[in-house]
Amino acid sequence: MSNLDTPLRVHPVPAFSDNYIWLIECPAAPGRIVAVDPGDAVPVIAALKSRGASLAAILLTHHHPDHIGGVGELKRHWPEAAVIGPDDARIAQRTRTARDGEPCDLPDLGLRFAIMSIPGHTLSHIAFWGHGALFCGDTLFSAGCGRMFEGTPEQMTASLKLLAALPPSTSVYCGHEYTAANLKFALTVEPANATAQEYRERVLRLREAGQPTLPSSLALEIQVNPFLRCDIPSVREAAVQHAGRPLRESAAVFAVLRAWKDQFR
Ligand SMILES: [Zn+2]
Repeated sequence: MSNLDTPLRVHPVPAFSDNYIWLIECPAAPGRIVAVDPGDAVPVIAALKSRGASLAAILLTHHHPDHIGGVGELKRHWPEAAVIGPDDARIAQRTRTARDGEPCDLPDLGLRFAIMSIPGHTLSHIAFWGHGALFCGDTLFSAGCGRMFEGTPEQMTASLKLLAALPPSTSVYCGHEYTAANLKFALTVEPANATAQEYRERVLRLREAGQPTLPSSLALEIQVNPFLRCDIPSVREAAVQHAGRPLRESAAVFAVLRAWKDQFR
């Protein structure tokens, strides 16, 4: 079982304007790849061909087209690839359902993930966690979080708390490159956050060089991400100031931050 603790080799495939499709090298099956949230098949096929690799499985975090749109075409190329996703009729190509609390075991590939139900962005959104890596789709971004299309602030707050309780060393693989814009907002909420200031410098350098800012780590997110910091006095105070009224629960702080960010340019 030791290979379950080995850090994964994961490669980003940029898609559309700011999506990342993550390609995981299978520890027990050289030349085989697991793709996470392939919204577009074309760059995945190109990346696999350039490596002489084949597709072993597809992991899906939620039903949005920019995360599942490439599944049909990938299945035409690799019909045996399992398609593992949440219990949601909107993911028609699913061959295996990932359920909260059940492990997602892929023994032939040397991979094992815990499935976490994290509603908020969508109601059936899940995360895959294992090997020190978290694939969290559009729920947690670096220095930000997803919009609440289907869930409530209470659900989203609970989901983010669940993710934040994972080991701080966890590498965070998000669905989008939103870090620079998110940090602009984070520093508006917490202008004196020195870690966020330093991170912003690093992120701007990476983006200028055309490099991804991901994966992030949970340790960093807990220090810079306002949506994971709703219980921190400076964040709470900024939300209270913005709302112009007292806020009791951390879900209320979260709701104010999320609505503020939705309007933020
Ligand atoms: Zn989404």
